[in-house]
Formats: sequence, C-alpha cells, structure tokens
Amino acid sequence: MKSEQHSPGQPSPPPHADWSLGSAEPTAQPALPTAGEGGKQQPSPPTAGEGGSGGMSPGVGPEPAHVGAIAAAGGATRPRDLAQGVGVAGAAAEATVGAGRGFHESGSRVAPAFDERHPPAAELIADCVHCGFCLPSCHTYVLFGEEMDSPRGRIYLMKEGLEGMALDDTMARHFDLCLGCMACMTACPSGVQYDKLIEATRQQVERRYVRPLPDRLFRGLVFALFPYPARLRPLLAPLRLYQGLRLRPLLARAGVLRRLPARLQAMESLMPDLPDRIARATVPPRTAPVGDKRARVGILTGCVQRVFFPGVNAATARVLAAEGCEVIAPPGQGCCGALSLHAGREAEAQAFARRTIDTFERLRLDNVVVNAAGCGSAMKEYGHLLRDDPAYAERARRFSAKVRDVSEFVQGLGPVAPRHPLALTAVYHDACHLAHAQGVRKPPRQQLTAIPELRLKEVAREANLCCGSAGIYNMVEPGPANELGERKAHNVLAAGAQLLVTANPGCLLQIRAALERLGQPLPMAHPIEVVDASIRGLPAESLLS
Ligand code: SF4
Ligand code: SF4
Repeated sequence: MKSEQHSPGQPSPPPHADWSLGSAEPTAQPALPTAGEGGKQQPSPPTAGEGGSGGMSPGVGPEPAHVGAIAAAGGATRPRDLAQGVGVAGAAAEATVGAGRGFHESGSRVAPAFDERHPPAAELIADCVHCGFCLPSCHTYVLFGEEMDSPRGRIYLMKEGLEGMALDDTMARHFDLCLGCMACMTACPSGVQYDKLIEATRQQVERRYVRPLPDRLFRGLVFALFPYPARLRPLLAPLRLYQGLRLRPLLARAGVLRRLPARLQAMESLMPDLPDRIARATVPPRTAPVGDKRARVGILTGCVQRVFFPGVNAATARVLAAEGCEVIAPPGQGCCGALSLHAGREAEAQAFARRTIDTFERLRLDNVVVNAAGCGSAMKEYGHLLRDDPAYAERARRFSAKVRDVSEFVQGLGPVAPRHPLALTAVYHDACHLAHAQGVRKPPRQQLTAIPELRLKEVAREANLCCGSAGIYNMVEPGPANELGERKAHNVLAAGAQLLVTANPGCLLQIRAALERLGQPLPMAHPIEVVDASIRGLPAESLLS
C-alpha cells in the first residue's frame, strides 16, 4: 500500500503507479518518496555511527544524521537494510524487475567496497547537497520509487563505500541498475559530476565484485562480440536468413521466443532489420570535398554502427563532403571503447581508446566527427580515461578536444549545401548521451528545422526519460529497459509524426523493438540520414519506406 502521508511541503511521491513523470525540468520541490511508500520497509532512522557507516570522515559531506535523515525522508532504508526493500518498490516495477534482481544474488561481498585505485572521489561526493532535484529525472527512481536507485541514493552508497562499507549484492545491484543516462546531471543545480562518480564506481564493481556465473558468461559474450566488427560481420548472413524466412513471427506464434531466457529474448527483439541495400553501404577511406575545402575531418565508423547501420556512416560522409569537408575514414579503426567504458571495463576501454587515438592522430585532422551519441560521449572523455598513462594522457586530452558530434560539427562549420524540401512530419528523441552527457540539444534540431517542408515535433511527455537502451543495459536488464522503452514508444506515438529521428543506434533499436511490441511500428532515421536525403533531393518516401 502506498502511504498518502507526505512530509509538510513535500509533493507527492514518485509515480511508479501512474507512470506520470511530470516535468523533466527541476521542480521547485523535488518529488520525494515518503516512508513506507510503495510497500517498502519503514526506514530505520539513522543515527551517527549506525549501519556500519560510522562517523563520516570530516569534510566528506554532511553529518551522518543529516544524510541519514534525508535518506529516510526519501523513503530509503539504511544501506544495510536495503535487501529487504529491494524489489518491493511497486507492483508494476516488481513485475519486471524482481526476477532480474534475484538473478544477481550471488553472495559476493568485499569490504571495504572500494580499493585505492580511483574510488569515487570524496570531493565530488561532497558536491551533492542532497536537495533531491535530480530525483524526478532519474529513470530508475521513477520506475522503482527506491531512494537507493536514485542519483542521491547512489551517491550516498558511494560515500558509505568510501567509509568502509562492504560491496555486496545489494550495493552492486543499485549501481548496476543505473542506466548511466546522465539525466541527473542536467537536472542537478549543484553541478554534481555524477558521470565521473558512476564511472569510477562501475570500475570498482567490475574489479571487485564477483558476479554470478551466468551473468559473467553473458557479459563475456556481449563484450567478446559487439566491439568487434570482424566478429559481428559473419552473423549478418544467418541473421538475414532468419529475417528473410520470417522465422521470428513463426517462433513467436509457436511460443518458442517466450521460453527463451529474458536476456536472449531481449537480444532477439533488438536485432536490426538487415535488408541487402543497407548491408552494401560503405564509406570510402577518403571522400573529396564538394567545392572548396573547408576542413579535413576523420569519421568514426564504429563497431555496431559499421556493421548494422552502415547507411548512417555513408550519409555522414556524404553530408560532410557536401559541406566542403575532406572526409577520412581510416580502415584500421575499431571500437572506440564506449560500451566497455560505460560498463566499467576500464582496461578494455583504455585499450580501445589508445588504438583509436593511434589511428586518428597521425592523419592531421581538424576534427574527429562521430555520429553515435554514446561513442562521442566516450571519446570526449579519453583525457580522463587515460589520465594516468604518461604515454597517452596529453595525447588523449588533445584528441578529445577535437571530437565533435556530427550535428554540432556541421552547425559549427556553418551549413552551406542547399537543402531540398522533405514533406514529412518528424519527431526528435534526444539520445541521453548526446543531450545529457554532451549537452548537444540544439544542433540536431537546427539541422532538421532547416529542411524546407519538414515539420519537427518534440516528444511532449517525459522528454528527458531514457528509452532504456543505455549501452548494454537493454540486454542485461531487459525488465526495466522494456518498461522504459514502451513508455518512450507511447510518448513518441503521441506526437503523431511519420518518422522518428534520433542520433544513437542503441536508441533506434530499443524504441523500434518497443514500437513493434506495441504493434505500431514507425519509420526511423538518424538525423544525418534526413539531412543527407534533403541535400540529395530524395523524396520523403525514401525515409518512410
Ligand atoms: S545530485 Fe544534485 S540534484 Fe541530486 S541530490 Fe545531489 S545536489 Fe541535489
Ligand atoms: S544516470 Fe540516469 S539512471 Fe543513473 S542515477 Fe542518473 S538519472 Fe538515474
């Protein structure tokens, strides 16, 4: 039962029952869950020294009672009590999350939670004033109504970990459930660098926490496959056969897909459409500029993008060339490391980053242009990722300074190629790693609204809500990811557009799968494909077919 008792001056608790997130903008009063809400355990009012947190180190955040009181006001139990609270946040959330949570109960426990290699920084933790403004923007808080699944709660757990608390299944679970969408950073008035905090924390979890064997195997498979185009490419033929023979509807009707483990079901549903024409699109190593050369740029063709969405790369090269750029697509490039970085696999991410820097820096480029939001976000962080490597630290900083999302690059250069009309209505979805992590919101909209006859609509409700893609999140956490995907799909459909436009391959696959589950598929495109169609004078139908 949800308690109706709210603290004076506090608005209603987060609505995991009615799904209305409300405004994504920071509100005057943060929406806080009340004690006992959503069927959770009543919080144990914390006292100094209780719960293993002991007295907090001087200078690290507020006093224990203050923090604990805030956590309690937020409906949180003390971290040591969390196991009882987990999974009971609300019936709807529990329906999809409960099984996932149980899956992770391995019995792993390591104390203290963090080793000395870049734990979440105490000074960054201290920036959080526990105001709660980020809570309504946090997707996992909206889904579960659990303080420890909010940014504020996770920061509190990081602090407890710094002070000696053990990293166990429950703490790891709260960190695992974070999408890394960085919507909380957009909402935070105190400028808390949650990206740095969760990145450091995930690296600690990956290094120190022992996941259950099936989880380790599944993650091992994902990371042995997706960052490697040469391993993905042999899958194209069987996947195309699977789709060509229309096996999916047959297997679905026979109930076979339903009986697969949830994570395999998720992988199957996220499979991109692989028509022949897309598979044949390629990017030459060099594309000459149209007219006078205005810049020499490299483009990241990526791993998943290169194999499953080569049409986006081809469109990127054409648009850049049309805008007067000499475009270099070095054939030796590989994965940029974004998937690994966002999953806490530090050494792997660093290896990919070094290789990417090696590949591009000798080409003497003005900029390195990226068309996948998650990749651009990671590449802008190379300086931080390689800060301890004397051979790469400075090179990484210089490299990161040259990285641009394709929309911000073209808008910064100043578009000159004539745009032809595209008579269609499109709705634009902000990819989290473009809008929140990179702060790139206007340029893709400016590119789209500059196209004659194109009507651009916004996702009116829950615009800042993540679609649930979030790197590998939709594969490892299919329950909450599916809920988020379907919420996003409903909100996209409400815009009444003919075409969904978004700048991340993960978002495209995630929302497409959700729309298909709802039985209302919608044509989709990357913004650069729309610009490309306009510059080439293609008919609107080329994007809608
Ligand atoms: S992260 Fe920012 S918005 Fe959230 S509680 Fe801390 S200071 Fe407030
Ligand atoms: S990154 Fe996203 S899911 Fe994680 S705490 Fe911030 S808003 Fe919540």
